[in-house]
Amino acid sequence: MAGSEIPNHVVVFGRPGSGKSSLAARLGRDHGFVLIRTGELLRRAVERGDSLGRRVEECVKGGKLVPDALIAELLESTLKSPGSDRLLFDGFPRTIGQVAILESFERKLDFRIDRYLEIAISHAAAVARMSGRRVCPRCGATYHIVNSPPRTDGICDNDGSSLVQRRDDSYEVVELRQRIYDENATQMLAYYRAHAPGRFVTVNGEQPFETVYAETCRALGRWSDGEASG
Ligand code: AMP
Repeated sequence: MAGSEIPNHVVVFGRPGSGKSSLAARLGRDHGFVLIRTGELLRRAVERGDSLGRRVEECVKGGKLVPDALIAELLESTLKSPGSDRLLFDGFPRTIGQVAILESFERKLDFRIDRYLEIAISHAAAVARMSGRRVCPRCGATYHIVNSPPRTDGICDNDGSSLVQRRDDSYEVVELRQRIYDENATQMLAYYRAHAPGRFVTVNGEQPFETVYAETCRALGRWSDGEASG
């Protein structure tokens, strides 16, 4: 990949409330990424009430992590050969076990993650933000009443649906999700920093959205010559 191009395949990490999903959506729109959002896929499976949905419902509604084997099953039915698609993973991998699942999909479908992007934000800032989050129940678009509001209060820009607060954005569940993130992400991020240092970038997420977005585009465009294959 040359100089300042946006890479093809990206993983975005960030604690719940870091703003990573709004960022992923904007990257998708501006740079043509296909978003792979495990949280969204799981919620849809729960709404459909299909076999996977019934098995993951309790975890998703309670804010706990779905077991790795079920995440592998979900991706198996979602991820086809990327072909010319640029993939952006939002919310996966989330555990060290899922790192191995992603690597097995890279081998099987013959693609390579070019960038691991961490949106860094403190626990306290994340909790404050999550209380303002609203989502579109139809298309999954994510807004924030202060940081990333829709054009019309409470209405989705894409399809005019009334926005809702997710059940797992309640205070107790928010705190639980932060703890779960801390328990799992520390080890996983350490793994990527050690194994793919030239592809791992961190952006300060505690800034206005447009600043985070601009820094993200710059960070994604930087290519380290120091790492041959990660
Ligand atoms: P999200 O929309 O990414 O915040 O995810 C919502 C919920 O879906 C999480 O609280 C988990 O219950 C579940 N979930 C999403 N992605 C994963 C994953 N990669 N591994 C395990 N559970 C997940």
